Formats: sequence, structure tokens, C-alpha cells
Amino acid sequence: MLGTYTGNIPAIDRLNIPSINMQDGPQGFRAMDKTGGEGSSTAWPSSMTLAASWDEDLLGRWATALAQEFVAKGANMLLGPGIGIARVPNAGRNFEYLCGEDPVLGSVLVKPVVRNIQEQGILADAKHFVNNEIETHRMLVSANVDERTRFEIYYRPFQAAVDAGVLTIMCSYNRINDVYACQNEETLSHLRDILGFEGWIVSDWTATKSTVKSLKAGMDVEMPNGLFYNRLTLEKKLIDGDIDMKDIDASVRRILSALETVGILDRAPTGNPMANVTSEAHNTLAREAAAKSTVLLKNANDLLPLNAQNLGDCVAVIGDADTVAGGGSGHVNGPYVITPAQGIANALAGAGVTSTKVLYNDGQDVNAAADLAKQCSVAVVVVATTSSEGSDRDTLALSGNQDALIAAVAAANAQTIVSMNIPGAILMPWLDQVPAVLASWMPGQEAGNALADILFGTVNPSARLPITMPNKDNEVGFTRSEFPGTGMPPEANYDEALLIGYRWYDAYNVTPRFPFGHGLSYTTFSYSQLQLTPLSTKAEVLPSNRIEVRSLPVVSVRFFVRNTGKRDGDEITQVYLGYPVAANEPPRQLRAFKKVAVSAGNHQEVTLSLKKEDCAVWNAEKDAWEILAGEYTVYVGASSRDLRLQATFTVN
Ligand code: BGC
Repeated sequence: MLGTYTGNIPAIDRLNIPSINMQDGPQGFRAMDKTGGEGSSTAWPSSMTLAASWDEDLLGRWATALAQEFVAKGANMLLGPGIGIARVPNAGRNFEYLCGEDPVLGSVLVKPVVRNIQEQGILADAKHFVNNEIETHRMLVSANVDERTRFEIYYRPFQAAVDAGVLTIMCSYNRINDVYACQNEETLSHLRDILGFEGWIVSDWTATKSTVKSLKAGMDVEMPNGLFYNRLTLEKKLIDGDIDMKDIDASVRRILSALETVGILDRAPTGNPMANVTSEAHNTLAREAAAKSTVLLKNANDLLPLNAQNLGDCVAVIGDADTVAGGGSGHVNGPYVITPAQGIANALAGAGVTSTKVLYNDGQDVNAAADLAKQCSVAVVVVATTSSEGSDRDTLALSGNQDALIAAVAAANAQTIVSMNIPGAILMPWLDQVPAVLASWMPGQEAGNALADILFGTVNPSARLPITMPNKDNEVGFTRSEFPGTGMPPEANYDEALLIGYRWYDAYNVTPRFPFGHGLSYTTFSYSQLQLTPLSTKAEVLPSNRIEVRSLPVVSVRFFVRNTGKRDGDEITQVYLGYPVAANEPPRQLRAFKKVAVSAGNHQEVTLSLKKEDCAVWNAEKDAWEILAGEYTVYVGASSRDLRLQATFTVN
């Protein structure tokens, strides 16, 4: 169907049902010619970038602003959030997802996002269900995944989205265990009957393959056209007895009640697709979000933060000035891009410094770049590599001559700072040659200002890696049968099961380049007094008013964090759980985290709780979460490999 938005379901005036105007995507309103053109919406940092903030409050505020742009453009369904898992470091869509490589990170962050999008009176659409982790032959590949792995890793963020009241979920292109996602009775019945999803399921664009199988499996809306779900076909299938009127009624009920829940039935979209929905407030938030999501990976000899008054004649800024977003449906072209050189110049001007020039070289000519670096007190090399849906990256190396560029600049200037805009994991063969490294997973339009905020310490970095940074390509040793799959149509066997990301590194005792959860600050923190307390069973009321036994907290985890440095800062405190050996789980898994602001010299008490499903194992025979008897270890620390405290509790 040709129309204004990415997806258009016309109004049914006879029944007073407004049109459903669906728009991509998880990084912002993807404006095209019919929707105001590029530059008419904000290019926010990507979802994976935001995940690196580990900051629920920030994610909530971002989701509100994001949804407001959709409303103002007349869209009443946002095709996001993306909550796939970065199982494969090379996967092309990792940057689009809120989870990084950990389902609990995504589960915590997706909740404020879903709630705040839908609070604006539009539908959120969690995607892509499920096991859509391979872009190579994405329309054909079968992700062969055992049930326990699905529940413990891949379903988990969708469970969180459902608990937050998400009203639509997109089924994916791929097959799962040889059955297409949009007609997969097993995964879709898990979604409905076990995860408790009561909203509607929409197919990814052209992911529907059958009328009868999809309808029977509970898929409600085919997009972008009604090739399988149209009046003629449905009537014929009814007459032939292949489908039942009650299947259609059930779908219609699901769709209408979701529309009613957010108020769409009472209100036709009023926004104007051609409107420019950007604003100063959104630009400011995009900058704050990008800065709070920039990870300081390395900072030898406290090179950073830079002192603006102390930079001499010039700062050399070298490299890629414009790559700030990933490609595909998750791409947004904002109204402008603040380049690194502009951001640094803005910061110097703001500090009243007029004697230091910002000199830029695009890095194409490595020798010229090195010559420039030699002349200045400090060199900032900005490198970038992008990715897109439809393909996976062949290598985790930076593209083109960028590794050589960094090496040459570092050889010319010992004060070289590398800033990376990347779509996932990246290789850093030059790491030992540079004193400081920053990472962002696509910072969006305010890239340069956010970078300067970190470089000059206006923002004390607090972001943490949402993924593991490996030492080499395919360090986890995926066989071709595991990724990208073998045969045609390809079969990809998830034989690694639960051992993805840091779980694999911990299980095999391999030291990654940088561990999951790692990130430095300009201050330091110490941890003390870990105390575990069993909790009385008090039922928790979810937003949908369902009382969930599943969500009962079982153990409260309490500890103190002290800021032992000289600057105020935010610490991302992380709680990992080790199961009894008999559970056969990865050595440690993230179960909770909290970002805490602690002023210099002061301390904060942190309390988090572990819920039943945090300590349980999925029993595929019984279709139930099970808590095994034995000793559990709770680890508290600043990354998956920087564990400062530990204590145990026993389940009898
Ligand atoms: C993507 C979806 C997107 C849809 C509509 C598909 O190719 O997989 O994420 O929402 O296109 O643009």
C-alpha cells in the first residue's frame, strides 16, 4: 500500500476507527519525502548507545521526547523499541537494540521506554520476535535454539516489554527451529500463554508466508500489504473451513483493545507529517544522552579530562567527521551533525579560550594527518564504522585505513585520544599505542558537542560497555554452523546456548580486550558492606494489574558505594549471580544494576532485589521456572570482571 508512513492501515470511517500510521524506528522518526524530509526529526543516539548509559531515567526521558516527535508527525505507532540480543559481535543490527549482549540490561531499560512511548497515546512495537540475530540471509535463515536458551536469554527482554504493557510486537523474518517466526506456533504461543502478551502481533515487512498458519499461530496484522490477510483470501479460507471465525474475532479483539488502551479509537491522529518536529529541547536532550552514553575505555595517566586553558596553540582533530548513525530502517538523518572539530571549538569558545586553534584533517592522507598531529599539544582521532540491517559485518576491524591512521597519529603525538563511533564490537590493534579511548555506538546529531563534554569533563563519564570488546575476530569460536549457518536455506545452530558474550569469556576463562560492563570515570569508587536479606513474599502488581507470583523478590542486595576521588560522579553498580553448580548456568550473570550519583568524598547506600526468575532456571519439560536448591553467590562490582564484593545465600 502506498502511503505517507512506513506502514499505513487506512481508517474505517463506517466503524469510526482511525488510520494506523506506523513509522520507523527505534533511533527516531525516520523522515522521508512524504514525512517532512530528512532533517525534520531529531537524530538521537542509537539504542545501543543509549543502552551504554545503563540509565533508566535517561531512557525514559528520551522515549517521551522520541514519541512526541511521532505524535507531532501524525504517526500513532512507533516501530520500536528494538530488543534483540547482540549474540554475534558482527551482527548488522546490534546498534538498533537496547540490550547489548545482556537480556537483563535490555529488560530494565525497555520498561521506561515502552511506558513512556505509550503514555503519549501511541503504540510501541517491540521487535523482532524472535531470534533475529543473523542478518546474512535474514529472510531464510533458521535460528535453531533450544527452549531453555530462548526463555533465559532471548525471550527475557520481551517479557519485560510485556510486563511494561507493550501493546504490539513484531514477528521477525527468520525461521526458528525451521518454522517462520510469523507462523511459529511454539514461539508465538510462548509469547501469549507464558509471557502473557495480550496485544497484537504485526509481521515484519513481507515476513508473512501463509494466511492459515499465521492466523492459527496468532499473528494479527500483515505488513506492509494484505497479500495473505485480505478479504477475498480470508473469506475463501473460512468457506473451506481452514480457519474459523473465532480466530478472526480473536485478532480483531486484540487489535481494537490495544487501540482503545492508548486512546487511538477516540482520537484520529492530528499531527502533520510534513512538520519539523525538532526543537532546542530535543537537541539538548540528544546531547545529554550522547554524552551520558559515551564509554571511557582507557585513560592512561589521567590524560582526560583536558584543561581547555592549557592546550597551547592547537588541538588536532583528525578523521571521520560525519558517521553518527547506522543504516537501514533504523537510520535517521537529523537536521545537522555537530562534528568533533565544531564540538571542541564550541567548548573552547565556551571556556573563553581564544588562543588555541582547532585544526582538522580528514585522515585520508595518513602522513598529512600525522604531520598535523605533530604540531599540536593533543590529537583527537575520530574513527567510525557503520552497519545496517540486511548484512552482517565481515570483520570487527575498523574500515579502510583507520587502524593505520591511529597508529601514525599516535606515533606523531603521544597525547592521542581515539574516539570511536561504532555499530557494535570493534578491534583495537593500536590500543597500547594510545593513552585514551572513547566509544559510542552511534551518537547522533550532537556527536561533536557530546564528545567535547566528555573530553573537557563537563560531563564526568559514567557509561559502561553493553557488550564485550574482543581481542580478535570470532574470538568466541563460532563455527559456520553456529553463525551464519550452513546450507540453503541456512540452518544456524545456537549450540553455544547460554554462553554468549561475557558468559562465554567467563566460562572459558578468556580475558577480553574490555569486559562487559567496563567504563571509567574521572573519579574513583569503592564498594563495601554487602548484605543479603531474604524477603517476605509480597505480590507485585504490574502495570496491567496482573499480580505476578513470578515477579516475587526473593533476596534484597544492599551495599555502599563511596566516591573516593575528587570529582562528583555517577557509578553504574552491577549485581551478578552465580548459580549452584548443578544448575549448569554460566559462571556469572547480570541480574540487577543501578546508576548512583555520589558526590566527591561521600557515599550512597544501594539496595537492589533479586526476583524469583533472576535465580531460576527454565525447565523446558515442565514449562516453568524452577529454583534449584544449593548455594548462590552474589557478586557486586563495577564490571563483569571488576567484582568488588561477594556473598552467598542458600536455597533449601
Ligand atoms: C525491518 C523492520 C522495519 C520494517 C519497516 C524491515 O526491513 O526489519 O525493523 O520496521 O522494515 O521499515
